[in-house]
Amino acid sequence: MGKNTNPTESRIYVSWWKPLIRLAEKGWGCFTAYPYKMNERDNMTGLKYAVGIDIGGTKIGVALVGIGGEILEAQTFATDVAEGFVKALARINQTISKMLNKQGIRKSQLAGIGVGCAGPVDAATGRIQNGFTLPGWENQDIVTPLRQEFGCPSYLENDAAVALLGEYYYGAGQGADPLVMLTFGTGVGGAALRQGVIWQGRSGQHPEIGHMIIDPAGPPCYCGMNGCLESIASGTALDAEAKKIGLNNARELFEESKRGEAQAMDITARAANKVALAIWNLAHALIPARIILGGGMMEEQFDHFYGEIRTTLNKATQFDLSQLEVVTARLGNQAGVLGAASLVF
Ligand SMILES: [Zn+2]
Repeated sequence: MGKNTNPTESRIYVSWWKPLIRLAEKGWGCFTAYPYKMNERDNMTGLKYAVGIDIGGTKIGVALVGIGGEILEAQTFATDVAEGFVKALARINQTISKMLNKQGIRKSQLAGIGVGCAGPVDAATGRIQNGFTLPGWENQDIVTPLRQEFGCPSYLENDAAVALLGEYYYGAGQGADPLVMLTFGTGVGGAALRQGVIWQGRSGQHPEIGHMIIDPAGPPCYCGMNGCLESIASGTALDAEAKKIGLNNARELFEESKRGEAQAMDITARAANKVALAIWNLAHALIPARIILGGGMMEEQFDHFYGEIRTTLNKATQFDLSQLEVVTARLGNQAGVLGAASLVF
């Protein structure tokens, strides 16, 4: 009889782990892949500072954050993908060191460093795996060098996940669980949270909510299909639509639409309809309490989308989706660094 089939041994095994599971539930981050949010009273380490890093395809944000979510220092610089991962990491390290010096904080006072990075990441091994917007950085381990340089724990997460955590703890997501967030930028990022924990799929992978199919006859996408939300409603997609009617970008498209220009109105109405369909799908698949829509374009143009979203949700017969809150993100670019820092506390 194999070890795992012996009922006595497996009972001992389970009961031995129970106290650890209880500790994990109480928020001892070291026993769980997802450190629960701690407040000042719960923080057993007594360390009150963390660093949050938000790595995107175009820029990198670094912030020194206090345990209450206050940003003490923040800096953003362009991502030079071609320069390579090693140089980018050196720049991140220098930025953190300067911030610590300026605030008179020693490395030993850091509770940890959290990193949110665009695209697929392997949170368990701390490796970046995004060959789409960070080509050449694939398989780079970012947590080990940070841990060695600053002598504190470090964590890696997907950027959409940390943006959601930032809004959940400090912004538009407070008090809402289950919670979904979509961020409209170069692409469409998405993350979901339930019972305070970010949703992960098989092997810890993050759902790519932006690649749900909204219109099979829509434009092709690098994900392998046509007409996913990202290829229809991202800032990039709407920029492309604007150019087709002689405008420069999505912002001009929305301005023309507000002025009553027929072609622009047609395009923005279509975009609003597609976003509403995506929210309908998420509402039925996950029954969230709240959906947050973020990203510069969405935050500026939220009014343009909201009416269509509400009209669509009000058609639901199986659930009372009038109770589903759909709101804009509140923290803007700070959501990423704050959410990354929240991986630590
Ligand atoms: Zn796609």
